[in-house]
Amino acid sequence: AWSRVKRRLRAELGEDVFASWFARLELDCVSGGTGKLTVPTRFLKSWIESHYLDRVLATFKAEAGDVARIEVGVRGTVAPARPVVPAPAKPVTATSGPLARLHAVGSQAPVAPALPAAESRVSAEASGDFNGTPLDARLTFTSFVVGRSNALAHAAAERIARHQGEGALYNPLYLHAGVGLGKTHLLHGIGHAARESGRRVIYLTADRFMYGFVNALKTQSALAYKERLRGIDLLILDDVQFIQGKSIQAEFGHTINALIDAGRQVVVASDRPPTELEALEERVRSRLAGGLVVEIGSLDEQLRISILSARLASVRTSHPGFDVSPQVVNYVARAITANGRDLEGAVNRLLAHATLTGTAVTLETAETAIRDLVKNREPKRIKIEDIQKLVASRYNVSRSDILSERRTAAVVKPRQIAMYLSKVLTLRSLPEIGRRFGGRDHTTVLHAVRKIEKQIGEDAVLGDEVELLKRMLQD
Ligand code: ADP
Ligand code: MG
Repeated sequence: AWSRVKRRLRAELGEDVFASWFARLELDCVSGGTGKLTVPTRFLKSWIESHYLDRVLATFKAEAGDVARIEVGVRGTVAPARPVVPAPAKPVTATSGPLARLHAVGSQAPVAPALPAAESRVSAEASGDFNGTPLDARLTFTSFVVGRSNALAHAAAERIARHQGEGALYNPLYLHAGVGLGKTHLLHGIGHAARESGRRVIYLTADRFMYGFVNALKTQSALAYKERLRGIDLLILDDVQFIQGKSIQAEFGHTINALIDAGRQVVVASDRPPTELEALEERVRSRLAGGLVVEIGSLDEQLRISILSARLASVRTSHPGFDVSPQVVNYVARAITANGRDLEGAVNRLLAHATLTGTAVTLETAETAIRDLVKNREPKRIKIEDIQKLVASRYNVSRSDILSERRTAAVVKPRQIAMYLSKVLTLRSLPEIGRRFGGRDHTTVLHAVRKIEKQIGEDAVLGDEVELLKRMLQD
């Protein structure tokens, strides 16, 4: 039923609006007549709530009669790593021992008092200033720890931020990396430093950028909005992989072009290289790739230790008694390998533990405090080979048929579905997927991905089928 709701919203609201606001809306569950929906950001949540709640409810009711209310939540905010509501720690009835209490608190009332960063993020989101996204005061060059994997990105960011003369340096600067590796931190760092030297800076997330245009189009002020964007010295755009919708993508392209042509600096960040921004037109992609493209690599152990130490030191300014031994730091740095966000989460856990129990953090307590963080964040690795096997058996062909040159419909369709699933379920690039499918070209993979995406949108049966395959692979 949920996929029908989404399909109907898309048909009724149009591709652009749908892609901008609903593509990442997911159904969590229906319980007691309430449909619980989730989106990835607070911004999307408030935008959908204020503009589309009735619409979504009506559509939902029409497709699944047993829903009387809907709620929109933000995905991934239950983890204390990124507190959303800085609520004062409320008295909690402990079930057994201090750790049960810690986890109970952790899941509802984050350890807010110690975390100025979390609070400033919240006020940024809630401020309602849609002209630009406010900068987080904590994310500066000073608090950014430089290591091997991010040295180049950091150097380029600093040069751009401190640049004084006419024209732009590398234009655009394009940073890409997986989640939690410091892209947003560096972008804010650039923003702070450039503003300090008196330059006109706008920092926008993809959502805000889209909001700006959709809103401007509605109020017939698109021209004014564009002029405003083009009248600045430095435009910083975060998470550009989320820019969706044909007309918005076109405007995005025009804006980037106009700024670069006028010698204004553009900096963007994304979770993938420009060549893999499949939704964007080739012209825009090559423009994005035409400046300096820098990848931030994963955090090595030394860098993780440095980031942890820096974070602990900053927490200690407000919690002088909070002391963590080098052994514990080393242990955490070895246990948590994923990203900076989880390191921050780990520090929050240790602090919560220390303040709630009033005891020092030992190796054992550290282990307990971060245990779920270590386990939960280990994503299931899906292998392309497994995808091929499952799809082959589902369609009664063999895996070697899928890898072969055969072009009969009976083989082509499962092959394309397998390629599509490989793209959405693994982190492999298009060329890499092509290689794993009997040495095919990346354009063949891209064609397959687009085709299946389109067919899923049009054909409900296929949509459900692919969804089922996805679930089977993820379980
Ligand atoms: P991304 O935008 O790449 O997903 P963020 O910039 O939001 O990642 O980083 C996630 C968290 O990790 C932030 O709290 C950030 O301050 C921290 N972090 C990441 N890299 C570094 C670094 N090199 N030095 C200090 N903190 C870092
Ligand atoms: Mg980010």
